[in-house]
Amino acid sequence: MLEQGDVRFFVMTDAERLIRNFARVVASAPYALAPERADELQEAVFEGESWTLALEEGPAQATARVDRREIVVTFAALLGLWAVARAAMIAGVEAIAASRADRRILDSGPNSPMAEALALIAAAEALIRDPCAAWPDGLPHPDAAAPEGSDDWRVNNVFLGAVGWICLHEVAHIHLGHEPDTTDALRRRQENEADSWATRWVLDRAPPDLRREFRVFAIAAGLAWIALVDKVRRGSLTHPHAWERLGHCAQVFGTEELSPGLELSTHAMKACFFPHDPIEDFETPQEAFFGTLFAASRLPR
Ligand SMILES: [Zn+2]
Repeated sequence: MLEQGDVRFFVMTDAERLIRNFARVVASAPYALAPERADELQEAVFEGESWTLALEEGPAQATARVDRREIVVTFAALLGLWAVARAAMIAGVEAIAASRADRRILDSGPNSPMAEALALIAAAEALIRDPCAAWPDGLPHPDAAAPEGSDDWRVNNVFLGAVGWICLHEVAHIHLGHEPDTTDALRRRQENEADSWATRWVLDRAPPDLRREFRVFAIAAGLAWIALVDKVRRGSLTHPHAWERLGHCAQVFGTEELSPGLELSTHAMKACFFPHDPIEDFETPQEAFFGTLFAASRLPR
């Protein structure tokens, strides 16, 4: 039915067209990220009741509607998260190969992998500015049916991990009985509490191997997308900045100095915020992570 208003909302956006095939796996993402706690999530947190995860058109964001027992994620948020997940994977692989070969600058010339990563980050930013933004020609499309073990399948795993953590953050607000209408100071504290809760949920019983490192990287990829939201929307008083949030989460990561999850996360952060700077020569991935986080947190808001 066409009425007055923004006619674009009556036509399927690129965001919906390109990401709707993920609807089923997105709904199970909070369970799939920490499968060892899936039953506990259903019984202890959701108290056996059914919650829905609704995918909608609208500004790029995830929210909880407590009265309707519903978590809402928009198509623009999902496609942007997929783009950041893919860019993070590309940047991680490229930067690790470069630093092993003693190269400090990543080639971002035409048709290079880094050029694609930067175009993906720009596309995610465009979707934050306008959820109806057209997906650029020449960029790959998400493939929900990517065969297991393929690069696209790995990207899907990082994407769904990031979505799962963001949904668990929303679950935490509800589970911890947070007040949506309160002082700015208390809202900031609630954000940190929800981040810690979601991060602990995902990591506390994770197998102590690469699966745990993968989860760290997925959380960082989710926060890298949130940092782009902060950059485009110029942050807010009620939410701590994404990089402060990542620093806060890192206190519960419990990762080792040589953590591959931290190493990949560092390069993802750098690709989003200082892609053309040389790769700095840090002693360990942990030092590089906190050094890069510190540099990112000093960028103008
Ligand atoms: Zn929140």
